[in-house]
Amino acid sequence: MGIRNCERCGRVFTGVDVVCPACATREEEEFERVRAYLADHPAAMVAEVSLQTQVEVREIYRWVRSGRLRMTLEQLEGALRCERCGAPIDTGRFCAKCLSEIRQSLRQAVQKEPEPRAPVEPRAPRPAEPKSRRPPKVHTADDVRRRFT
Ligand SMILES: [Zn+2]
Ligand SMILES: [Zn+2]
Repeated sequence: MGIRNCERCGRVFTGVDVVCPACATREEEEFERVRAYLADHPAAMVAEVSLQTQVEVREIYRWVRSGRLRMTLEQLEGALRCERCGAPIDTGRFCAKCLSEIRQSLRQAVQKEPEPRAPVEPRAPRPAEPKSRRPPKVHTADDVRRRFT
């Protein structure tokens, strides 16, 4: 549980979801429409899905990012990009290549200080447990921060 901003309406609420209870009900209806449309039209482009279901594309993107909805790179038309290198992605915030590099870097920094970002996206990828510990001199916390900006 925590205090967070609703990703849809921006209202502050307490809970474990990314949207407030009022939006959650509406979102479920919208998600069901999108899911059903994609079941009938598995190759539909995201713009078509949005038009036919009357659901905003940014909502669809959010479900795709969180992994709730699966769409291909072609369907998404490259709308979702890796936040680090800009490569097209079909889930999450980073491409697979950056994800492994980020995890590598965080592994070095996590012992020194917590992630500077507040956990507004609870489904965002988290670094895996360290398999092996390397000397921290390879990547400093500043180095990691620079890589993110
Ligand atoms: Zn809301
Ligand atoms: Zn990337």
